[in-house]
Amino acid sequence: MTDISIKIIDALKESIGAASEPVSLHEPYIDSTDNNFVEECLKSGWVSSVGSYVNEFEHLLEKKTGAKYAIAVGTGTAALHTALILAGVKAGEEVLVPSLTFVASANAISYCQAIPHFVDSDPDRLCVDPESLESYLEHKILDTKNGPINKDTGRIVRALLPVHVLGIPADMNYLLKIAERFKITVVEDAAESLGSFIGDTHTGNFGLAGALSFNGNKIITTGGGGAIITNNGDLAEQAKHITTTARVDSDIYFTHDQVGFNYRMPNLNAALGCSQIKKLDKLIRQKNKLRDIYKNYFSKINEVQLVKTPSECVSNNWLNGLLIRNSSIQIRNEIIKATNSRNYMTRPAWTPMHYLNMYKKCPRMSLTGAEKIYESLICLPSSAKLVQPE
Ligand SMILES: *Cc1c(COP(=O)(O)O)cnc(C)c1O
Repeated sequence: MTDISIKIIDALKESIGAASEPVSLHEPYIDSTDNNFVEECLKSGWVSSVGSYVNEFEHLLEKKTGAKYAIAVGTGTAALHTALILAGVKAGEEVLVPSLTFVASANAISYCQAIPHFVDSDPDRLCVDPESLESYLEHKILDTKNGPINKDTGRIVRALLPVHVLGIPADMNYLLKIAERFKITVVEDAAESLGSFIGDTHTGNFGLAGALSFNGNKIITTGGGGAIITNNGDLAEQAKHITTTARVDSDIYFTHDQVGFNYRMPNLNAALGCSQIKKLDKLIRQKNKLRDIYKNYFSKINEVQLVKTPSECVSNNWLNGLLIRNSSIQIRNEIIKATNSRNYMTRPAWTPMHYLNMYKKCPRMSLTGAEKIYESLICLPSSAKLVQPE
């Protein structure tokens, strides 16, 4: 085992204690309130596509995020797909998206028969690097009467899909300026950032729409689930319509006015969401505490740096990222292997999209930031239950 691995394992031990059992990267926080809500839902018999928990969960989400409208759906991926449809993304168009993201962001673009166009990430913030994006677009985009065109491919560049990685908000104010300048619509992948803000504004409220996820590994969970948030009433109505099979004006007749999707969140999952979201503030406080503990021990190691949240932002601290200085894939892999062998289930960043077979021929800018993050990022175990509730 290398010196650096030994130091990291010691810091983990000091931070969260010895791991006689595997310590997962992130576990859902389930307590008896969750049991009660799910049991109530089961008793009511309304477990599927109709029921009051869906509406209640949507209202609670609106309250938490400050968005005027929230539309609950079956997965975060479905929320992304829907948000891109709302943005008017069509077959044969391009959508700018970071290469360093979970595959769902790129897949949702593919579901629209559109083409992901990969952009670079800031190696300190982990999110889209606005400066390099702006100078790239200056050379790449042609302003035409049909819209912004990629000079090389001749395709319309319809949207930008920034991702708030690990809960850290992307630089939305700068990105909105770029989007306005090049006439590109912004949709946010806020799957990881429920509870994260820039100033007083919750992530997902900067663009036309935002997508949230409540998968089992996220800060709160509905088992599987997602939501679209937006501040535009017409879009909210459209989102509800197309995610519920585009059924028109009847509880009795089955009539549909376009090809819709069965993306609705089942009432059973929404029941779990209603109890989970009430715990969000408490979970964030515990995560802040864990973050402080990690900061204390990892700041003593010169070879590493915890990923920092920019001062104008509040992160939900969903996952704690550790950057290894002067890293390489070999160094990173050795640390992952060593820590996992000691029961600390650390994980690397996602393999960048431009390395994946189905996406390696997509248009892209220079991706040195994304590649650097891929080589140097390690995610530390970050479950809320790793610290005592206050
Ligand atoms: C979790 C996640 C999603 C959505 O995932 P689902 O499992 O479909 O809910 C999308 N993007 C990112 C960055 C994610 O982390």
